[in-house]
Amino acid sequence: MREQLEKLQRDAEEELLGARTDEAIQAIRTKYLGRKGALTSILRGLGSVAPEERPAMGQLANQVKEALSQRIDAVLEGIAVSKKDSRLLQERVDVTLPGRGFARGTLHPITQVTQEICGIFAALGFAIAEGPEVELDYYNFEALNMAKDHPSRDMQATFYITENLLLRTHTSPVQVRVMEKQKPPVRVIAPGKVYRPDADISHSPMFHQIEGLYVDRGVTFADLKGTLTFFLKHVFGDEIGVRFRPSFFPFTEPSAEVDIQCVMCRGKGCRVCGQSGWLEILGSGMVDPEVFKAVGYDSEEYTGFAFGLGVERIAMLRYGISDIRLFTENDRRFLEQF
Ligand SMILES: [Zn+2]
Repeated sequence: MREQLEKLQRDAEEELLGARTDEAIQAIRTKYLGRKGALTSILRGLGSVAPEERPAMGQLANQVKEALSQRIDAVLEGIAVSKKDSRLLQERVDVTLPGRGFARGTLHPITQVTQEICGIFAALGFAIAEGPEVELDYYNFEALNMAKDHPSRDMQATFYITENLLLRTHTSPVQVRVMEKQKPPVRVIAPGKVYRPDADISHSPMFHQIEGLYVDRGVTFADLKGTLTFFLKHVFGDEIGVRFRPSFFPFTEPSAEVDIQCVMCRGKGCRVCGQSGWLEILGSGMVDPEVFKAVGYDSEEYTGFAFGLGVERIAMLRYGISDIRLFTENDRRFLEQF
């Protein structure tokens, strides 16, 4: 019986050497150690062994069983490890490879110009103010000295939502909202989107304006001229000519349209400036006492100036862009140039 047991152990170990899969190894376990396996059938012959040898044979059988079990477990574990290794090898990431890289966007030219303009006025002590794009008729028109029947409402075609609610046609209502909440001195600029039902090469139904307002004791037209001239020379260069022309806005008195020398022809006259040599760049004026009345400011005590400019217009002149629609077409070939 001793020989049988020793042979069983040798045979099993030899078969294990050739086994490569979990299934094959489990089959070997069943074949030798299973309930109906080789070891069991050897032990059935225990009855014919001499009684004094039986304990030794029983012990040997246990040793063989224990040794084979351990061996089988070890082989199974080895297979599991090598499986894991090969999977890790397959899934290996070469961290030294160059990355794929994300396409990096750039700020939209309108955002860039807005930030630049806000930066210039911030340096002059202006704070940023904001107001709603869906605005009350009161703030967009009435409080700015444009009563319901005021003829200058015709100058601004408007998207109405209801009779009293509209998409703001300019950033000027922010002036009123700021002054309602704050006593002078007030020094703010208000950048934002505005809306008018117009669409062609130089008009977009949505565009951007920046409104400026400065109110304090003793603010004069000279302050307006100085501030806006400083600003325009900062944006278009020191040598650019700037001129102020009398104009009319309901919410300023006196009012002035501000021109810069044509950036294309430097004042000689070309198609862009209609041969005049000048380009309209912003509207401005001293705040009308009627507007102060609407917000409860005493126009005997305070004066102020206001101005508004179109961001698209400045960006177009600055970069020589001929069609305003390019700003909203989202063509990356265009946008990536800035
Ligand atoms: Zn020109």
